[in-house]
This record gives sequence, C-alpha cells and structure tokens, in this order.
Amino acid sequence: MTLLNSTESLRAMDAAHHLHPFTDASALNAKGARIITHADGVHLTDSDGNRILDGMAGLWCVAIGYGRPEIADAVARQLRQLPFYNTFFQTSHPPVIELGHLLSQVTPDHINRFFFTGSGSDANDTIFRMIAHYWAVMGQPDRTIIVSRQGAYHGSTVAASAVGGFGFMHAQPGLPVGNILHAPRPAWWAEGGELSPEDFGLKVARDTLALIDGIGAHRVAGFIAEPIMGAGGVIIPPDSYWPALSAGLTERGVMLISDEVICGFGRTGSWFGCQTYGTTPDFMTMAKGLTSGYIPMGAVGVSDRVAEVLTAKGGEFAHGYTYSGHPAACAAAIANLGILRSEGIVDRVADDIGPYLQGKWRALADHPLVGEAVMTGLIGAIQLCADKGARRAFDEDLGVGMMCREHAFANGLIMRAVGDRMVVSPPLVLTHAEADELVEKAWRVLDLTQAQLGHPGR
Ligand SMILES: *Cc1c(COP(=O)(O)O)cnc(C)c1O
Repeated sequence: MTLLNSTESLRAMDAAHHLHPFTDASALNAKGARIITHADGVHLTDSDGNRILDGMAGLWCVAIGYGRPEIADAVARQLRQLPFYNTFFQTSHPPVIELGHLLSQVTPDHINRFFFTGSGSDANDTIFRMIAHYWAVMGQPDRTIIVSRQGAYHGSTVAASAVGGFGFMHAQPGLPVGNILHAPRPAWWAEGGELSPEDFGLKVARDTLALIDGIGAHRVAGFIAEPIMGAGGVIIPPDSYWPALSAGLTERGVMLISDEVICGFGRTGSWFGCQTYGTTPDFMTMAKGLTSGYIPMGAVGVSDRVAEVLTAKGGEFAHGYTYSGHPAACAAAIANLGILRSEGIVDRVADDIGPYLQGKWRALADHPLVGEAVMTGLIGAIQLCADKGARRAFDEDLGVGMMCREHAFANGLIMRAVGDRMVVSPPLVLTHAEADELVEKAWRVLDLTQAQLGHPGR
C-alpha cells in the first residue's frame, strides 16, 4: 500500500473515488480532505501529524472518548463467537437480549421495549412506521400527520429528511413533504424579538399547539423534537418551553417523539434529554452515544403504553433491517453502557465537568464577536454577531462561521459552524485541563476571526 502513505496520494485517491456526505465535491476536491489517522482520548491526529482537540466528539457521538480497548475487545470477542445472525424469524441472540435489558435500566421507567436499527435516521423511519401502525390499531387511522420544527435535523433518509426542517434539504427534488408540518423553534437569540426568553418559550409552545389545533389535533400522530436542537445550532430552549408544550400535547392526545440521538447517554447531564426537561415521551430515538460511535447502531425506545397495544393486538409489524440488533454492534453498546455506568460519566457531566466547562464557556460572551454563549451539560454554542446589543447577525454572505471554523481547525480545535453559530459537544470524558485547552483555543480563534473581519466589535 505504498500508494497510501502520503497525504497527497491519500487526498488524490479520496477525490477520485469517494463521494462525501453533506459536501460540495468540487470545492472539497480542489482543496483536499483533511485526513484523520488516529485518535486517543479527546484528541485526533491528522496525516501531517497535527494534534487536534475534538470539540465535537466526532459527530456528537464519541461520548467515552477515543481508543477504549474495552469496546474493541468486546467487539472482537463477539465477532469470533457469532459475527451475525438475524432477529427476524423468531430467533434472538444473547447480545441483543442483554442490550435490551440494560437499556431498560437506563431509560425512563416507562420505556422498556426497544427496536434496533443501524442508525438514527432509520430509527426515526421506524418510529414513523410504528406510530402509524399504532394509530391504525387504535382505530384512529386519520392520525397521520407528523409535526416537526423548522431547523430540525432528524436524519437523511427520504422520510427523515422530509420530517427535518432544513430548507436546503427540502429543496432537493422528489421529497414527499406531505403530512408533515413544521412548527417554530425556540431560538430566542435569533427570533425572540423584544420578549424575555421565558415569554418567548411560552409563545413558541402556544404557537406550536395552535398549529396543531389549526390542522385538527385528531389528525396529528406525533410531535418530534430533540430536547435541545443539535445540528440546528444547539438551540437550548427557555425553561418555559417544554413544560407548556408537553402538557398541551398530552391534552390533545398527540404523541411525543423525543429524538435523543444527540441528547441521549449523558450529553445534557441526565441519561436522556427528556429527563433534563421533564417530558415523558412515547418514543425515543437513539443512536450516536449508544455505541459512542465505535460501531454504527440506532434504537427506538417504545413506551409501555404503546408497546402493550402493539404486542397485544398489533399483529405482524412489517418492518425491519438486516442489521437490526447486529451482534457486534450490541457488544459495542453493552461495553459502552458499562463504561458510562462504572465510571459515573453521566453524573460527572451533571456535577463536575459540565458546570466547569459551562462557566468558562459562558464567559466567551464577553468577546466582542459573541452575542450569546450557552451550554447545558456538555453541549453548547456561541453566536457570532455584528452587534450584540441589538442582537444583529452578520450578513450571511460574509461566511463568518466558516471563517471561524477554519481558524479553529488551523489552531488545533474542532468546532462546528451552523451558519454563524459555533457549536461544541466534546467527549464526556473531557478533563478539566482539556476543558481549559478548549476554551483557550476558542478565545484565540475568536480573536483571529475578529482580526480577519477587521471588526472592532460592539
Ligand atoms: C445524527 C442525527 C440523526 C441521524 O442519525 P444517523 O445515525 O446519522 O442516521 C437523527 N437525529 C438527530 C437528532 C441527529 O443528530
């Protein structure tokens, strides 16, 4: 493989043969991909030997950090013993049985049944099929509409991207967006106007319920949302939002689908984001932190109320994936849950590293470019803006977020840009020293961005 030993040749072959997700191929190939070759703890190493602090835990997923031998060993052992068997034809296997049991211990008390998938997107697809099946069994087949939110991300399959609220994904031809409504998002900095965050949270909750009443609540199957919107820019809702909204959904018999793909497994300082916000979902979508990304896997958590109907009188649920409950993925998830529990990582996010990083992160709001700096658990954002007093954004064409992201990369820090919001979601095993490193680098990167803009700051 001498061909693959230099950054140049790797880039050339990547450009020749690899179509990247969410990427403008011509722009990438002109510049060449950054090649990541190893990782350990919270740091990545690229093919030129640069060490980079991964402020995004891969893609929000590597909760326990990189290089944990417990997962590698568990997967290797499972691959030797039983690399694959399906769970379709009245068969099961020990790892999938153990994983369901373990999940029932860490999920909220009323969630005890799990359907396994290969990813978060197909877990959401599973829920859309299962919820329609449930309402049909319940004699309410008119409940077919899914209400989602503007700016939401729920995956990239045809159904998940239609349900998501990214306009640029809907702009692709051929997407069936019927039977899906998009409610407003509780994004106070951008959309709160003169209202206080608490009043704005209430207003968005009421507007969402009014949207449901407008179409007829008896036609709405469910409302899907992340507890904290992740890929949409880490939108942390005002505290008033979830209590008002979830009470209104319950009154209307509309099911709550809590997409926990990012918020699950400790990210917000509880096992699941719904616990942080006190909601009681009927379905939970899980992926990412389920295996800390070591092996692809997703799952659907189903409430007792739904599961009891479906198991008693649902008949055959004509749905499934070849890799539903893949033994090696289950082994990775079991080992990952073992680490999260034995090292008390979720409590550590709530009581130790979470508050520690939050304090330093929120201080970034003192930087002239930063309009707000927010963080819950270990998921946060800073809003770059032209005028913080007036909450005025930069002209989009300036591409300030991308500019900032480039400085971050060049200075050994991965932060993601969502428009002009810089988001972080570091591994949950981040140490205090690594938290210091993250925030010091963020300050430097903001200074460099400000200098490039020639922005005096306001
Ligand atoms: C990443 C993500 C998904 C999709 O998961 P995949 O494993 O990429 O299919 C769904 N929902 C949310 C909230 C996500 O962040």
